[in-house]
Amino acid sequence: MNLILFGAPGAGKGTQALELAKSYQIPHISTGEMFRQAMAKHTPMGDEAAKYINKGNLVPDDVTIGIVKERLSNPDCQNGFILDGFPRTTFQAESLEKILQESNKKIDYVIDIDVNQDALIQRLTGRRMCSKCGASYHIIHRPSKIEGVCDECGNELYIRKDDNLESVKTRLETYQKQTKPLIDFYKQRDCLVVIDGNQDIKKVFADIVSKLGDNK
Ligand code: ADP
Ligand code: ADP
Ligand code: ZN
Repeated sequence: MNLILFGAPGAGKGTQALELAKSYQIPHISTGEMFRQAMAKHTPMGDEAAKYINKGNLVPDDVTIGIVKERLSNPDCQNGFILDGFPRTTFQAESLEKILQESNKKIDYVIDIDVNQDALIQRLTGRRMCSKCGASYHIIHRPSKIEGVCDECGNELYIRKDDNLESVKTRLETYQKQTKPLIDFYKQRDCLVVIDGNQDIKKVFADIVSKLGDNK
């Protein structure tokens, strides 16, 4: 099953993607996480991406599409994948279609996790991330069992540089302008599923699974 998890920054894409990847045994591909790892290693691509990411702007399409194309060619994507945070522009969506067509694949579902604007700001400014496995926690909604430590892998939690109020506002504006129009793009392709992301994490997961059915 080839899935896209769609939604504004803070909608819960990463949280749901990790669980879906476990349940459906398909890889979770987060462009944001790939960029953060490259930034931590100070690769040339990471240093270039950091200029955009830390201010809350999108990384240029050519860089982003390049890393996704390479990742999708990995054998572990043969039986399906979950894209989280990609595509974010119409050009990226069109490029993804071409990349998949080359190997006779298509997207089965685009899961739009819909969350109110006020909740998004609160979620992003209270987020804590695991530097190793990419799990995300929230100081109020999803605290880790031990403060500052990942429940999944025991690694240290950190606050993302772009989760400050100023970058958050820029990211939400960028989402409205550049990414939200993709909802119509995927509606036209008849693969859009809208989920109420204002509910608790478990209920959101259950709603997604019920929409996907047994299409494993
Ligand atoms: P995204 O990947 O879409 O940016 P995350 O999955 O990182 O979003 O979630 C953003 C923040 O909101 C995290 O702190 C996460 O723990 C929290 N969160 C995720 N889903 C929910 C939910 N359904 N209710 C409350 N908080 C949530
Ligand atoms: P969130 O959904 O929580 O905002 P992500 O981890 O998906 O965060 O992305 C973090 C940042 O990485 C984005 O704000 C953007 O700068 C960059 N990024 C991630 N995915 C893309 C993409 N598809 N196109 C351009 N930039 C991206
Ligand atoms: Zn972890």
